[in-house]
Amino acid sequence: TGEWDVDVVVVGAGVTGLTAAYRLHQHGRSVVVLEARDRVGGRLLTEERDGVRLEVGGQWVSPDQTALLGLLDELGLETYERYRAGASLYIGRDGERRQFTGDAMPVSESTAREMDRLTVELDRLAAQMDPLSPWEHPDAEALDRVTFAAWLEQQTDDVEARDNIGLYIGPAMITKPTHAFSALTAVLMASSAGGFSHLLDADFILDRRVAGGLQNVPLELAARLGDRVRLGSPVTRIAWDDAGVEVHTADAVHRAGRAILAVPPTLVSRVTFEPPLPAVHQQMRQHQSFGLVLKLHLTYATPFWRDHGLSGTGFSPYETVHELYDNTNEDLATAGDARGTLVGFVSDVRADELLALSAAERREQVLASVARYLGEQALDPEAYYESPWMAEEWTAGAYATSFDVGSLTRYGPHLRERVGPLAFASSDVAGLGFQHVDGAIRMGEAAAED
Ligand code: FAD
Repeated sequence: TGEWDVDVVVVGAGVTGLTAAYRLHQHGRSVVVLEARDRVGGRLLTEERDGVRLEVGGQWVSPDQTALLGLLDELGLETYERYRAGASLYIGRDGERRQFTGDAMPVSESTAREMDRLTVELDRLAAQMDPLSPWEHPDAEALDRVTFAAWLEQQTDDVEARDNIGLYIGPAMITKPTHAFSALTAVLMASSAGGFSHLLDADFILDRRVAGGLQNVPLELAARLGDRVRLGSPVTRIAWDDAGVEVHTADAVHRAGRAILAVPPTLVSRVTFEPPLPAVHQQMRQHQSFGLVLKLHLTYATPFWRDHGLSGTGFSPYETVHELYDNTNEDLATAGDARGTLVGFVSDVRADELLALSAAERREQVLASVARYLGEQALDPEAYYESPWMAEEWTAGAYATSFDVGSLTRYGPHLRERVGPLAFASSDVAGLGFQHVDGAIRMGEAAAED
């Protein structure tokens, strides 16, 4: 490696950084991975809380996520199907709770027709897009200058159809209100998952789980990298020129030919660059921001909903908890554990409202919402846990980052642009697998290849 300590310094030991480092290592390049936290995995974390193993961050795998499925295979990790037997629940605009099976939601005939029409239109737009370059979509300019909420209003007067279609991309995916991102970003989300119909289909998009938890992916990668991964090492400063980089932490300087910043775009700006990054890079990252979602786990003595023929799945754009699933651990390690766990999500402005309350009030509101889906038995969980991502210094939101209105066309072409020896990668700049672990792997591999 000549005068360098290593060929490449990777900043961040999330899936993106660890994939990049592992591929470089496999190809005989020397690497060091510097991670701010005292653990690897970034937005993936499997943790025991009140005696229950919980997936606090990302967890589900869908059949289109071939980069993730391939890596799971390579690392020898097993998957199992998410529990889904029984009827699902929907709470409509009229406040009524209705059961349904399959993907035909129990809405009025006219609302169902409008939802079908919007689905066909979003699938059509997504099919016209290469998710790696949404700005090249034939209608990119027009779609990027309207909010997704305004676009939905242009398409239909049916409020419940708009609220439901909006739910699957807004609260459920981008985790921002539909008036805070563009229609082009909505189409990107659909296109990155192989089409909007996939987002509507929980059996597809939330198909499988990883035995032991999805954090096993970064844990296995880190095990293969050994002491090349340095924990508790926030990178504060990077000096660079065309010949290489000097990457500074509080107590060390690592000199290398290249650096890969495998951190969310919002955290790139926390590093001081000498010389500063080009203007367009500094501007671009001010237009990207994290969404906000609370991931809630509720564990009960038994999965009581199953006794009532219910899958535990529930949706409603009108509820505090807009999505609900059975998240009982079903892998071998938990065989014999009779407890049942639900996972629920509270997103964007509803999350703001909850976070303004005391812990006790939050819990009460969440349980009341879950009880509107599953009945009074839901009011008394043995364990209750709220994910802390929005308050964590090295993430500061969830699930991921996205552009404000108009910025995907304006800055998108610079998203994955290298600056001299500095490459930028994360799930949040991915095409396929955008904002998902699959995209993190694709971006890590692309950065290593580069
Ligand atoms: P991160 O995981 O954010 O990794 C970046 C790393 O960089 C972190 O470890 C951070 O500590 C470190 N870092 C930051 N700044 C510095 C610095 N200056 N110096 C050193 N280190 C630094 N995806 C799915 O595929 N399926 C799901 O079901 C799913 N559900 C999710 C649920 C939640 C609650 C959340 C939060 C995310 C979910 N996701 C899901 C998204 C998925 O977790 C992320 O897309 C993916 O893990 C991001 O990986 P990454 O490596 O790009 O970024």
